[in-house]
Amino acid sequence: MLVLSVPSGHQNSLDSQVGSFLTNGWVIVLEAATGAASAANNAVAKCVVSRPQQTLSRSITVVGKGYWSGIENRVELRPSAAGSGVRFIREDLGGACVPVSLKNRIAATKRTNLQVGQVAVEMVEHLLSALSALGVDCCEVGLTAAELPGLDGSARAYVDAIDSVGVQSLNGSLIKPLVVQSPFTISDESGSGVVDVHPPTTGGLRVSYFVEYPGSSIWPQHYEAIVTPERYREDIAGARTFLLEEEARKLQGSGVGLTVTTQDLVVFGSDGPLENELRWPNECARHKVLDVIGDLFLSGRPFRGDVIARRSGHRLNAEVVATVLAAEDRPVEASGAS
Ligand SMILES: [Zn+2]
Repeated sequence: MLVLSVPSGHQNSLDSQVGSFLTNGWVIVLEAATGAASAANNAVAKCVVSRPQQTLSRSITVVGKGYWSGIENRVELRPSAAGSGVRFIREDLGGACVPVSLKNRIAATKRTNLQVGQVAVEMVEHLLSALSALGVDCCEVGLTAAELPGLDGSARAYVDAIDSVGVQSLNGSLIKPLVVQSPFTISDESGSGVVDVHPPTTGGLRVSYFVEYPGSSIWPQHYEAIVTPERYREDIAGARTFLLEEEARKLQGSGVGLTVTTQDLVVFGSDGPLENELRWPNECARHKVLDVIGDLFLSGRPFRGDVIARRSGHRLNAEVVATVLAAEDRPVEASGAS
């Protein structure tokens, strides 16, 4: 069960969100704070949100080349049982398994990679984003290579594939969301990348992202979404990966991304996108929200909280998950303290 604290004065904004979560199979119960709560908590209502775990109705396949490696990968998403989570299966390595888990994340440039022993899966964030947003808690992801396909730089192909079969409830076993219990801030060494994290105000995940690339043709922009399957399909799934022309040259100069063209993602030159058109004026901010949603699923559990990110990348996003997991393991302070 998820217990959501709603600050006094925010109950009306919650009411407007309740309908959208109910339509997605969520069960929400509002209850008054108990008498043992502190004075501050007495001004707070509690909201319990839960639903059964879900998987895919049938298997689906997505095929494409990895951006970095250029190697084709056949990705087969298969239904799996409650409690199994999301697990990558390297069919090309005899079925070696890499479960989605923060402890399996390894450091990598500009992407999210997982590894167990010598078995790696690379650039998993866009698939994880689609699975998380559409509520796929459990599935097997069969792979024929390490790196997930780059596709058009977005999560659109994954969303279309999942929607082509739909998700089904795994009766009985409720999800165990990862819930932010108290606010915190994480920043990188330079202080330019910052993520503010708060307990959920909507019953689910709200992500806000500020893009700033000073001195480049990527203009400052912002996007915010309360993540529901509908919102994700309409406004987030199609937002593509982007990078600066100089970054692209540097990567290709080091021997990676050699098969990637300006049609496979958005490359910003000095005057804007090269040989491509943006799908939204703030497509970069939308893609960053897509990435955040994927990285916040690294615990393998639905993330519930409000996340306000400024210039954060995959490493900071993962630190957010680590911080919430660590807080979960700490003993709860007595609620009657004032
Ligand atoms: Zn991305």
